[in-house]
Amino acid sequence: MGSDSILTPIIKPMPIPTQVEEEVEEEDPPIPTTALLSFNTDHSSSPTPSKPTTTTLLFISLLLTTFISLSAALTFAFLFFSHTSQPIPQFARPLTKLNHPVVLLISSDGFRFGYQFKTPTPNIHRLINQGTEADLGLIPVFPTLTFPNHYAIATGLYPAYHGIINNLFFDPHTGDTFFMGSHDPKWWLGEPLWETVVNHGLKAATYFWPGSEVKKGSWTCPEDLCKHFNYSVPFEERVDTVLQYFDLPSSEIPVFMTLYFEDPDHQGHKVGADDPEITEAVARIDRMIGRLIQGLEQRGVFEDVSIIMVGDHGMVGTCDKKLFFLEDLSPWIEIPQDWVQSYSPLLAIRPPPSFSPVDIVAKMNEGLNSGKVENGKNLKVYLKEELPSRLHYSGSDRIPPIVGLIEESFKVEQKRSERKECGGSHGYDNAFFSMRTIFIGHGPQFARGRKVPSFENVQIYNLVTSILNIQGAPNNGTASFPKSILLPRH
Ligand SMILES: [Zn+2]
Repeated sequence: MGSDSILTPIIKPMPIPTQVEEEVEEEDPPIPTTALLSFNTDHSSSPTPSKPTTTTLLFISLLLTTFISLSAALTFAFLFFSHTSQPIPQFARPLTKLNHPVVLLISSDGFRFGYQFKTPTPNIHRLINQGTEADLGLIPVFPTLTFPNHYAIATGLYPAYHGIINNLFFDPHTGDTFFMGSHDPKWWLGEPLWETVVNHGLKAATYFWPGSEVKKGSWTCPEDLCKHFNYSVPFEERVDTVLQYFDLPSSEIPVFMTLYFEDPDHQGHKVGADDPEITEAVARIDRMIGRLIQGLEQRGVFEDVSIIMVGDHGMVGTCDKKLFFLEDLSPWIEIPQDWVQSYSPLLAIRPPPSFSPVDIVAKMNEGLNSGKVENGKNLKVYLKEELPSRLHYSGSDRIPPIVGLIEESFKVEQKRSERKECGGSHGYDNAFFSMRTIFIGHGPQFARGRKVPSFENVQIYNLVTSILNIQGAPNNGTASFPKSILLPRH
């Protein structure tokens, strides 16, 4: 049987649940988490003033009245004269050198929201101060893992609809395994930005991005414009290659480019979110942003390029004794190792067809709620259809029928072992504040110094197509979202 004949659609034809809210974005209050910053709000109270005499009071009130009338007159004069002479810019700034909009989408993997305050980051802060920032960070999709999130950013779709439901999973129909090096287009659903751009007869260039090496539709991953992931390529070389695209004649400059750094995720897994090694990795990312800005300035295009800097997810420490063992549930139900497709931070179980998922979930939760299982209250098991709807994690057969949500920082393991390890992890519920990452937009359509409420990364697809002024594919983002973020064109 040829492999094409088994390409039965895994996802039912996509009636994409687009979000209907208008300007106000759905934002669940983040679950409280270890704060990255703390503020001292302890104000000492002022001493009680002594009572002034009546004459002094009269004098002071006269003086005050004179002062108030004078300042009111001055304020009025100031407002009257300044209002007409200095209008606040409300429209996109015109391009000065490029002859078409260019979007450069940068990802710094595992850049937890708040890392930008760990150390001086003058270059990232230049983008923040002269651009638009998601006030309390960008909300990743669930599960908060690298591949599901990068591809959600590229397609505007939740993982159930773009197909990459985990970094590693199995197709229940074919038994095939997806892993991070799988480039077969059968796994990668939806229409990523590079494909949309090429569909419009425009040029895209990808310097690494999960899914970008997949030849799909009109995207052929051309050798000169599509780099194959190789972590040993120095970050400087990645930046310099992207800069060289701006040396092309204006009409040949790709309109959409990606640039990817695997840091500080790499360090976060090793040492958790609060180690000097992270600080150094963040400083290095900042130097790369500086190198990029400088190169764009030298070419006279820095103010013309729309830079969108994001991360895919956050990071949280996984040290201590925050472990849960599946073997502890054996008095209620045996969960054999080969039923488990993923342990942490997303527990995913696919039992053989002869077992009832409803029954398994009931027995697991009975054990977890019994008070007899170590850390039992930090794991909650669901039939995927009964997961909170805000997670959008049920609409694909690739998602195993049983999903466990784990309290942040906890890990699930099959059985007890002597192994003790400290590090960092991500993949948890996207409502945890620790899973948030950054969003910064800088360029002609981004207002300077503006803060916008946090939003989910599925909105970015529409943002990019809107800047490029092209029609995007159907997706889970809100159609009106770009209007709430971007300055209108004249
Ligand atoms: Zn990671």
